[in-house]
Amino acid sequence: MATLGDPKKTIEILNKYHFVFQKKFGQNFLIDTHVLDKIIRAAEITKEDMVLEIGPGIGTLTQYLCENARKVVAVEIDKMLIPILKEDTLAEYDNVEVINADILKVDLNKLVEEKNEGKPVKVVANLPYYITTPIVMSLLEQDFPIKSITVMVQKEVADRMKAEPGTPDFGALSLAVQYRADTYIAANVPPNCFMPRPAVGSCVIRLAKKEEPPVKVMSETLMFKMIRAAFNQRRKTLVNAIANSPELSFSKEAVTAALVKAGIREDERGEKLGLKEFGELSDILFQRIGQKGEG
Ligand code: SAM
Repeated sequence: MATLGDPKKTIEILNKYHFVFQKKFGQNFLIDTHVLDKIIRAAEITKEDMVLEIGPGIGTLTQYLCENARKVVAVEIDKMLIPILKEDTLAEYDNVEVINADILKVDLNKLVEEKNEGKPVKVVANLPYYITTPIVMSLLEQDFPIKSITVMVQKEVADRMKAEPGTPDFGALSLAVQYRADTYIAANVPPNCFMPRPAVGSCVIRLAKKEEPPVKVMSETLMFKMIRAAFNQRRKTLVNAIANSPELSFSKEAVTAALVKAGIREDERGEKLGLKEFGELSDILFQRIGQKGEG
């Protein structure tokens, strides 16, 4: 029976183990049963699923996952939490495995192969906010079997992930996420649903991995280098941002010619362009490298 959604029970466990919150690990534990129910519903967890949870903390969300999924594998970096999880809060569940590791160092392909015979898993987490973006990007970029990612993130990060071209939140993260996944905001969560309270509002966002990317490009690497260049210097025109990028070696003339060929204004800024336009530009410049051996 899940009990940790109750703040009194959370305090009892924290006191019992003299637990000290580690700011460096982004520890904000959930203390709201409605939010926990919403996460389970948004992730559409069934008894068929294996769930990979990142950062179980004292096991609050993990208890809910154990009750709804076939199997849960929870990866927690803080070794002080492992005995609490194994000996206390998750002791009554026989469908959970706790691994003490840094999620950014785990070979997810190997993990899914070993724990779920290589079949797709669902990722569910209340993410540590100090490394939200690296974790989400690593989940999306690693080619491992995955059905969906349902995660609690800062509201501001969720806004950036789903932002459209020409809006203030739009940037490299929007394009990187939308290239690989469809986004859906499942809930807005205020600071008082956590202990300790974070300084910012949060959102539960669901990312459903796309079967195929929305644009087919000759070089993903080149397209994302151009996207990074465009948003590293977002006040500059695209021509200047790309021509000045240390990651790229295209002249102003080459970039201007590519813009003209793609039917984009010569003084356009990256913040107005979507994946289609970045894809087109990157293909034009990629072909140029092929023909001339340089930019
Ligand atoms: N899931 C719990 C909950 O909802 O109450 C805790 C969520 S708390 C926001 C984030 C958790 O991630 C913490 O337990 C923290 O120790 C853990 N964590 C932080 N960095 C991590 C990493 N690199 N790998 C695995 N876990 C990490």
